[in-house]
Amino acid sequence: MNPTAFAELRQSIAAKNARLVAVSKTQPESAILELYALGQRVFGENRAQELQAKHAALPKDIEWHLIGSLQTNKVKLVAPFVHWIHSVDSLHLLQEIDRQAARNQRVIDVLLQIKIAQEDTKQGLSAEDARALLSTGDFRSLQHLRVRGLMGMASFTDDLVQVRSEFRLLATVFAELKQTFFSEKNDFTELSMGMSGDYALALEEGSTMVRIGSLLFGERS
Ligand SMILES: *Cc1c(COP(=O)(O)O)cnc(C)c1O
Repeated sequence: MNPTAFAELRQSIAAKNARLVAVSKTQPESAILELYALGQRVFGENRAQELQAKHAALPKDIEWHLIGSLQTNKVKLVAPFVHWIHSVDSLHLLQEIDRQAARNQRVIDVLLQIKIAQEDTKQGLSAEDARALLSTGDFRSLQHLRVRGLMGMASFTDDLVQVRSEFRLLATVFAELKQTFFSEKNDFTELSMGMSGDYALALEEGSTMVRIGSLLFGERS
């Protein structure tokens, strides 16, 4: 994306009080450095190993977000440096993130991934599962992570009515969980939704973090 278009994109996201996570999966380090030179510091990757390698090679003031599904045995690869994990879908994974963050004397911000799409392929908890996970209260004893909000991916479809209704559903679940489980602590503030094709809709429906890849970097090979 050229610098002018990038500046306009950033401006339109900031105007909605949201943040841009530049999704750099499969992109070479040179492409990441081009955006870095334009001031972008927040990047997202979907695989732990690729994230680990890019963190090692790239400037240390990048804020890295892991946005793809994470196996418990890979948490230790990213725990020393990752800032946000968007894709948490079990108490077991929360506990392992907490354990590895503690070993690194860190606190990691996490989001629960909620399944909002119609397709079977998309990962995440149902709203019901998320309620059940939070209602035990076990997560409150985890001192090395903060549950900061929700993440979701809309269906891959041209039907914008459907996409909007899925984002709206996620925003509703977010508001409900916030009120039920986070009324005292007000750090449950983040709604990660919206990608290259649907970020504008997501911003209209209350997104605070858009995860944009191909629009910035071009189509992935
Ligand atoms: C790849 C990916 C994105 C970015 O997708 P684009 O359509 O390239 O913007 C966003 N979120 C997740 C979880 C992804 O895996």
